[in-house]
Amino acid sequence: MKKIVIIGGGIAGLEVSRLLLQEGFPVTLIEKSSHLGGNIRNYAYLFPDFTPSEEILKNYTSLPGNADLQLLLNTEIEKIDFSSRPYTLFSNDGIAISADSIIIATGYQIFDARLKEEFGYGIYDGVITSVEMEKMIREQHIVTPYGKAPRRIAFIHCVGSRDAKVGNTYCSRLCCITAIKQAIETKKLLPQAEIFCFYIDLRMYGLTFEELYLNAQKEYNIQFVRGRLSETSEMIDKRLIIKAEDTLIGRPLKMMTDMLVLMVGMEASNFSKQFAYHNGLEIGEHGFFKPLNQFNARGKSQKEGIYFAGTSIGPMSVAETIEHAQATALSTISYLKGKEN
Ligand SMILES: Cc1cc2nc3c(=O)[nH]c(=O)nc-3n(C[C@H](O)[C@H](O)[C@H](O)COP(=O)(O)OP(=O)(O)OC[C@H]3O[C@@H](n4cnc5c(N)ncnc54)[C@H](O)[C@@H]3O)c2cc1C
Ligand code: SF4
Repeated sequence: MKKIVIIGGGIAGLEVSRLLLQEGFPVTLIEKSSHLGGNIRNYAYLFPDFTPSEEILKNYTSLPGNADLQLLLNTEIEKIDFSSRPYTLFSNDGIAISADSIIIATGYQIFDARLKEEFGYGIYDGVITSVEMEKMIREQHIVTPYGKAPRRIAFIHCVGSRDAKVGNTYCSRLCCITAIKQAIETKKLLPQAEIFCFYIDLRMYGLTFEELYLNAQKEYNIQFVRGRLSETSEMIDKRLIIKAEDTLIGRPLKMMTDMLVLMVGMEASNFSKQFAYHNGLEIGEHGFFKPLNQFNARGKSQKEGIYFAGTSIGPMSVAETIEHAQATALSTISYLKGKEN
């Protein structure tokens, strides 16, 4: 029987594993952390309809018990020998694993907000990232560093995306809608809080995203300011002062806020770049793995039998990740049956 190795146990790796096992292929799933689920394990509710992330992850709870699945947690692949077939993968703890096909589902990492020093992340306690905000929403406990419920919160869009200074000129696609999701969840938990979103322009690409944006204004009274943040400073009582320019009316503005939430962009993982370099795989101009083409081979690499799934090729929502993983599973099955190369 043909053997498949999947690297990365986030939603993409789990969906590919599920489908391949369903079709009777034995799978080795390699995950570098001690648990499956990837980034959404840490998120609370998912746009577009506020489904709890656990609901999505529930679809995969029976996978670890599948007799055809070899699950290797706390394991990383360092090198692949492509010189003979089947390929051989070498892990960090010295295990050699053979594979007729390999699917790379190693996901994304978030932009390091400390690189935007002017926003004050890592300097002022009241400045947090959107990932940290997810955690607070998940725990139903949004508090300022001085232990009080915040009365005013500002969400800052495009942190580490669309920004040539930090080397990321692309749009991360999901952070506008994530800001709206988090602003609504915050308002549900803290109805008295004033909430502001500072955006460059709003990218509501999904079918129901525009409605969510309108609803955020009408039902939850969330204020949207078209403006770029230029500076953050802290008062003696730890509240923050932010300076921005309101680009709609062309005037600078200053505001006091209890918390600043930075909508950090999605980046290619460090693993992608190193792994690609050592194994002769191509990387696209923004550092994500480069598929064979952007139309009908978005899950295929340039190397025979090597595929990609999910955000290892660029920012995607959970629904898009699952769809991409399904398409990759289909290509892999066709390849293993000798119908596709
Ligand atoms: C703040 C924020 C909020 C979001 N909210 C939503 C939302 O509400 N709705 C929505 O649709 N989408 C949301 N997203 C997007 C969502 O997180 C992604 O669509 C999803 O996580 C992609 O899954 P993935 O499997 O491709 O990657 P990941 O979730 O990144 O999983 C990759 C897995 O691979 C593992 N891995 C990495 N490198 C290696 C290696 N070398 N060896 C072995 N394993 C490795 C990682 O440990 C991880 O488990 C949000 C994103 C952010 C940043
Ligand atoms: S989705 Fe919105 S916040 Fe994210 S990079 Fe694009 S424009 Fe900026």
